[in-house]
Amino acid sequence: MGPFPVGADLVSLLLAGIIYLVAMTTTNGQTEFVVRVRDVVKEYQMGKLTVRALDGVNLDIYRGEYLSIMGPSGSGKSTLFNMIGGLDKPTSGSVFIDDVDMAQLDPQELAFLRCHRIGYIFQTFNLIPVMTALENVTLPMIFAGVPADEARERGIELLTLVGLGGRLQHKPTELSGGQQQRVAIARALANNPSIVLADEPTGNLDLRTGKEIIELLKRLNAERGVTIISATHDLKMLDISDRIVWIRDGKIERIEKRSELELKVGEVEGEAG
Ligand code: ADP
Ligand code: MG
Repeated sequence: MGPFPVGADLVSLLLAGIIYLVAMTTTNGQTEFVVRVRDVVKEYQMGKLTVRALDGVNLDIYRGEYLSIMGPSGSGKSTLFNMIGGLDKPTSGSVFIDDVDMAQLDPQELAFLRCHRIGYIFQTFNLIPVMTALENVTLPMIFAGVPADEARERGIELLTLVGLGGRLQHKPTELSGGQQQRVAIARALANNPSIVLADEPTGNLDLRTGKEIIELLKRLNAERGVTIISATHDLKMLDISDRIVWIRDGKIERIEKRSELELKVGEVEGEAG
C-alpha cells in the first residue's frame, strides 16, 4: 500500500465520476439538450409601467425534437422565441445554445451563432421583396462566406426540397403566401442550422396551406434531424409536435408529450384558437 491510499482512491473515484458525467450528457460529442432556458424573466418598460412578458421560464429542449410553444395571444410566445433565438436579451436568467451561455458571447460570436446555428421563420415571411426566391435563400450563405456558385447550387437544392424548384426567379410578390413561406423555410435551412425557430409560421396562411407548411416542417425535422421550435396558437401543430409547452401570462403552465395529449385537444380549442 502506498502512503496515501485513501487519497489515490478519491482521485480515481473523482476521475470515474467525471468520465461518467461526460458519458451521460453527451452523444457523439453533443449534449442531449440543444437549448436550455434557465429562470428567464423578461420585462418591458413602457413609461412608468413594467410589463413582465416572461416570468421565470425554465425549459430544456432535446436535440432533434419538434417542440411547440402554445398559448393565447399575449402569453409571451414571441418573447420566448426572441430569447431562444438571441434576438433579444433576458432581463434576468440565461439561455444556453449547445451549452453556450448566449449572454457570454461578444457581438461577433452572437452573430456567428445566429447565422450558422439557428434558422428563423416568421409569420409574415420577411423575405426581401426586391430579391428572387433564389437570392433570398442564398443571402445567408453569402453572409456566411460561402462562394457564390456553391451558394447558388445549394439554394437550388433547398428550393427544390421545399417544392419550389420551378420558382427560382420569382420575387415574393409573384408567389402565394404558402410559397413565400416555403422560400422562408429554405432560407432558414441555408447554413445547415441545428435549430429552426418558427414564430406563428402558419399565422398568415389558410387552413390547407398552413397544414402543408406544418407537414413540410415535420418532414424536415424527421428527415434532416433539425430541431424545430415553433411558437404558435395553431392547434394543427398538436398532431406533429413531440412535446407541447403551454404558456400563459409568461409562465409555463405545463409540458405535454404528444402521447399524453389526445384527450385534451377539445378542452383547449376555445381558448387557443
Ligand atoms: P405572444 O407572442 O404570445 O402573443 P408576446 O411575447 O408578443 O406574446 O407578448 C407578451 C407580452 O409582452 C404582451 O403583454 C405584450 O404586450 C408584451 N410585449 C411584447 N413585446 C413588447 C415590447 N416590445 N414592448 C412592450 N411590451 C411588449
Ligand atoms: Mg407572438
